Amino acid sequence: MTAQELKAAIRDVPDFPKPGILFKDITPILGDPVLFRAAVGLFEARCRLREAQKIAVIDARGFLFGAAVADRLGLGLAPVRKKGKLPYKTFEASYDLEYGSATLTVHQDAFKPGERVILVDDLLATGGTAAASAALIERAGGKVVEIAFLVELTFLNGREKLKGYDVFAPIVF
Ligand code: AMP
Repeated sequence: MTAQELKAAIRDVPDFPKPGILFKDITPILGDPVLFRAAVGLFEARCRLREAQKIAVIDARGFLFGAAVADRLGLGLAPVRKKGKLPYKTFEASYDLEYGSATLTVHQDAFKPGERVILVDDLLATGGTAAASAALIERAGGKVVEIAFLVELTFLNGREKLKGYDVFAPIVF
């Protein structure tokens, strides 16, 4: 299974969730057991390479891949969630999206000091979500050893916002 085969399964949905946005729909990958396992395998390899000790997952599609990887490797998960969803004490960060703005939060005790954390999400667009998430992980004491995505939209220059971090994204549009 190559990244190219995974890429072929991604569906373009025009004008979702707003006019002018070409949404990259990864649900065909989720729905196919061979593709899903291959996608999880890509993240698993990154976690092994980086000797990650915890996987931070971004609300909501990052949860799908990160949880599967965490189970494979016997690692813990730390959810980065939209404001109002996490029940305990949180740190929060606001940022701009490709389509709108949002506030993300993480539990203050989600990481041990210096813990090696891989941040996982499905797609890198403008990079605002991942940059805010990485800042939250660091604020909570974790060390971001890599930010791993399945897909990168290179024309949005998301890596600019993630300077100083190692970024992995096997599928590029
Ligand atoms: P950004 O902060 O702009 O990098 O946005 C990243 C988040 O928004 C990711 O969690 C993606 O799932 C989602 N996202 C943004 N733009 C798109 C797009 N064109 N297609 C699919 N998902 C997107």
